[in-house]
Amino acid sequence: MTPDLALPSSLLEALGRTRRLVVLTGAGTSAESGVPVFRGGGGLWEGFRPEDLATPEAFARDPVRVWRWYRWRLERVQAAEPHAGHRALARLEASNRLRACTLVTQNVDGLHQRAGSRLVLELHGNITRSRCTSGCGVARPAETVDPERAECPCGSGMLRPDVVWFGESLDPGVLGQASLRIEEADMVWVVGTSALVHPAAGLPGIALQRGIPVVEVNPERTPLSGAVPYSLRRTAAEGVPALVEGILGPRTNSF
Ligand code: NAD
Ligand code: ZN
Repeated sequence: MTPDLALPSSLLEALGRTRRLVVLTGAGTSAESGVPVFRGGGGLWEGFRPEDLATPEAFARDPVRVWRWYRWRLERVQAAEPHAGHRALARLEASNRLRACTLVTQNVDGLHQRAGSRLVLELHGNITRSRCTSGCGVARPAETVDPERAECPCGSGMLRPDVVWFGESLDPGVLGQASLRIEEADMVWVVGTSALVHPAAGLPGIALQRGIPVVEVNPERTPLSGAVPYSLRRTAAEGVPALVEGILGPRTNSF
């Protein structure tokens, strides 16, 4: 933990009482692992905006271009390693200190699972997988798909990245599970998300309505910052381990 990150005493007390935690993570949670966010610079690809590439229309128009972009992103994800924030969340779940510890992520990079987290609700899918556009059930690791020949063996569809694109609906089962977990939670952390992309951006609102403590971890102010009781102007790798220590106590071994 960064030595100068002293949490407010009321937050430390609330962390000590926490039994059911939900952690919402967004693209900023992976930034320190070297996976760029879309918004805020450095997120562009050959002059295209993600909104022009991550759509069903873009894929229908030019699947090769979309697959090349996903291939580039996949390579960045494969080269990335989970950081202290990802590892702290995995440690918290494995400790069994909480009755429920649920990760709800907008990220598509699988870094939480690679750090060891098991209960991860992926709202936006995962770029390491592909699936057929026709819904035939064929699913392949994305790295095995040739961007130039992404036709599905079923003959009636194309293999596409298994992610939720702009303009598509989230899996209602996953979104429902996430909402339910927040309904039952007594503390929610919101880490590295601009709270702009709906419907994921609506989830912290459920917690705020219930009046439970919500902690935001983000180096920048967001539309949520003024509404939450605790807004830590910190990065994920700094802020998350500090919050986890607030529940588990300081680390005493090298795990
Ligand atoms: P976003 O709208 O959630 O914005 C990123 C947020 O992260 C910003 O508020 C920024 O201030 C914050 N941030 C930046 N560095 C941070 C750090 N070190 N620690 C904590 N917070 C930090 O995300 P977006 O980039 O606009 O992406 C939109 C959607 O695209 C995402 O919800 C996701 O589905 C997808 N996406 C996923 C990944 C990934 O899987 N790693 C990366 C980019 C985009
Ligand atoms: Zn198919």
